[in-house]
Amino acid sequence: MEGILFVMSGPSGAGKTTIVKGALKDLEDVEFSVSYTTRPRRVGELDGKDYFFVSKEEFELLKKNGEFLEWQEVHGNLYGTSKRYVRSKMKSGVNVLLDIDVKGAMNVKRQIKEAVYIFVAPPSFKDLKERLINRHTEEKGDLEKRIEDAKYELSMISKFDYLIVNHDVAQSVKQLESIIIAEQIKVSRRKEFVGKYKFYKHLSGKEESK
Ligand code: 5GP
Repeated sequence: MEGILFVMSGPSGAGKTTIVKGALKDLEDVEFSVSYTTRPRRVGELDGKDYFFVSKEEFELLKKNGEFLEWQEVHGNLYGTSKRYVRSKMKSGVNVLLDIDVKGAMNVKRQIKEAVYIFVAPPSFKDLKERLINRHTEEKGDLEKRIEDAKYELSMISKFDYLIVNHDVAQSVKQLESIIIAEQIKVSRRKEFVGKYKFYKHLSGKEESK
């Protein structure tokens, strides 16, 4: 059976990355797709774990070679999802989780309809602004761009399957884990098991086959 693709999206500062990290710690059957970016590395970030940090030239080359499932310019930097990683993991039955911006998510949706689209929203716009300011990871211009971009991103919630409003990280992690677990046990995704019993109604009253 193919792995399921989970696409997490929402404005910068809503807490997506923290929620993703929390869920990945608890769940064994889902893997994180590490994106490529031209954004400078933040303190504490690891190359190959948080992102593959590349130059603009390297990014352009990857793009030219068709290595991206999707790519976007987000808040002035380039970000891209590895097509090779996502496709090969899914093919081998591994569930994959993406943490990407809303435009990127909509691009993936045009290609992979059966993926699961999850939006992470802040409790309020005021709250989002405060979180972005208080985390001190952006320069002023970049911060303002992220706040401005959040307006468009929040207007796109209706395009998603699930909404996590991040009041409390522990609760949000639980909600993401619930989505991941529930999606795996959907009847529509369990064709093999369902198929085994498809013709049992003809056997009712008779001895069941092995
Ligand atoms: P940050 O710079 O804060 O790590 O990420 C900025 C935004 O870029 C976030 O919304 C994050 O989800 C998004 N992002 C990260 N990787 C990718 C990617 O591969 N593609 C797209 N479209 N967005 C990404």
